[in-house]
Amino acid sequence: MSETSQSYAGSGQHTGSYYAATANPAPKRPALTGINQVDVCVVGAGYSGLSTALHLAEAGHRVAIIEGARVGWGASGRNGGQIVNGLNASLATIERRYGRTTSSFVAGLVQEGGQIIRERVKTYGIQCDLKDNNIFVGLTAAHMRELEARQTLWRSYGIDNQELLSREALRTHVASDLYAGGLIDRTGGHMHPLNLALGEAAAFEKLGGKIYELSPVTSVTTDGAKPEVKTAKGKMICKTLVLCGNAYLGDVVPGLARRVMPVSTQVMATEPLGEDLAAALIPGDACVEDIRYILDYYRLSADKRMLFGGGTVYGGSDPKDIKAKLLPNMLKVFPQLAGKKIDYAWSGNFALSFSRVPQLGRIGANTYFAHGYSGHGVTGSHTFGRILSEAITGDLGRFDVFAKLPWYPFPGGRAFRVPYSVVGSWYYALRDKLGI
Ligand SMILES: Cc1cc2nc3c(=O)[nH]c(=O)nc-3n(C[C@H](O)[C@H](O)[C@H](O)COP(=O)(O)OP(=O)(O)OC[C@H]3O[C@@H](n4cnc5c(N)ncnc54)[C@H](O)[C@@H]3O)c2cc1C
Repeated sequence: MSETSQSYAGSGQHTGSYYAATANPAPKRPALTGINQVDVCVVGAGYSGLSTALHLAEAGHRVAIIEGARVGWGASGRNGGQIVNGLNASLATIERRYGRTTSSFVAGLVQEGGQIIRERVKTYGIQCDLKDNNIFVGLTAAHMRELEARQTLWRSYGIDNQELLSREALRTHVASDLYAGGLIDRTGGHMHPLNLALGEAAAFEKLGGKIYELSPVTSVTTDGAKPEVKTAKGKMICKTLVLCGNAYLGDVVPGLARRVMPVSTQVMATEPLGEDLAAALIPGDACVEDIRYILDYYRLSADKRMLFGGGTVYGGSDPKDIKAKLLPNMLKVFPQLAGKKIDYAWSGNFALSFSRVPQLGRIGANTYFAHGYSGHGVTGSHTFGRILSEAITGDLGRFDVFAKLPWYPFPGGRAFRVPYSVVGSWYYALRDKLGI
């Protein structure tokens, strides 16, 4: 098996992240060669693909995953690790855009992804440093009004697991002077994202599932009764195909490429801070994100590093100097970290949809897809995987609700969507700066 592949994934090896450096041992899987047949073929071994495949394998189906790089190589193995209930688009936005029936449906599943993750961790004994609690923090009075409105709205849907924190109350969770207060969700949490993906892959394989790595899919045929997938050295013919390449799928399926835009975001990890400093900075060990358009998100790792993320680059390129970009933001939140070494810094792509609502759908009779979690996909990808597995096994109820939601193309089309979005983000960043 060749260890290199010239593709979107370069050599296919994991990025130089803290997660890759602390990953649990995992086997190297073979590449796809020759002509193969399977009931369900899933492209992409991120959470969307793994969740779909694991649900199907649990129900006794014959499933293979084809991954262009390694399990968890994409966003799923390099994200902030934050388990946040809800989609990127708020329930308020969904209610406004699609009406109360759809928003009630969405409200019914916003906590499901976190529950699936916890079930998986427990059932399969996945070692991924799982912790409870996430906190949204606000910097201004306007942000606090937004958080209060969120709590009120969620309560109106019967979800009452969030507690507003005053400036003083938040100080007992986050030792920063930057914030006006926050909203804690005790059913949120955080974990080592790559180890979660590796654990899910191992569980899938134990149930008889097959994973091919270093096998970038170069073309997909979706017409005809049996979809086909080609890689440089192999072909897979299946009854049902599931496309879960998300931001990295590129132009393999042009109809999907125009629905979402790759956007990169960055994370860095300090040196270990020691128990005392770590506990002083985030005493309850929650994960934290602010609610600005271009936000900071951070948490402690199991070995007490600060994992600090933020920033976005539309189009999905990597900034030249990630540390230089993130360090000033981190020191604004925690001046106590001045002088601490940064051991790791990395970038990864998520798929942005224009509406910020993730998309589920079908191409032809037997090809499904899920993508576009818009930067908040740890929970959503797990839920969508379950919904895809329901659809594939004949229960189209929840799938149809999402598949029927209208999606909106990016203004400017593929040629101009990046500059248009940059201008849009300047507008929102300016509003954040002005506190309006
Ligand atoms: C840096 C970063 C931080 C983030 N932080 C958070 C967070 O804290 N909380 C949160 O909720 N969300 C976060 N997100 C978003 C979240 O990680 C994603 O929404 C989620 O992981 C998407 O999972 P996925 O399986 O759909 O996509 P991915 O994990 O990207 O998986 C897609 C997989 O498909 C494979 N693939 C693509 N094309 C092909 C092909 N042609 N052939 C074969 N395989 C292919 C890729 O190699 C990849 O492994 C973050 C994202 C990034 C990038």
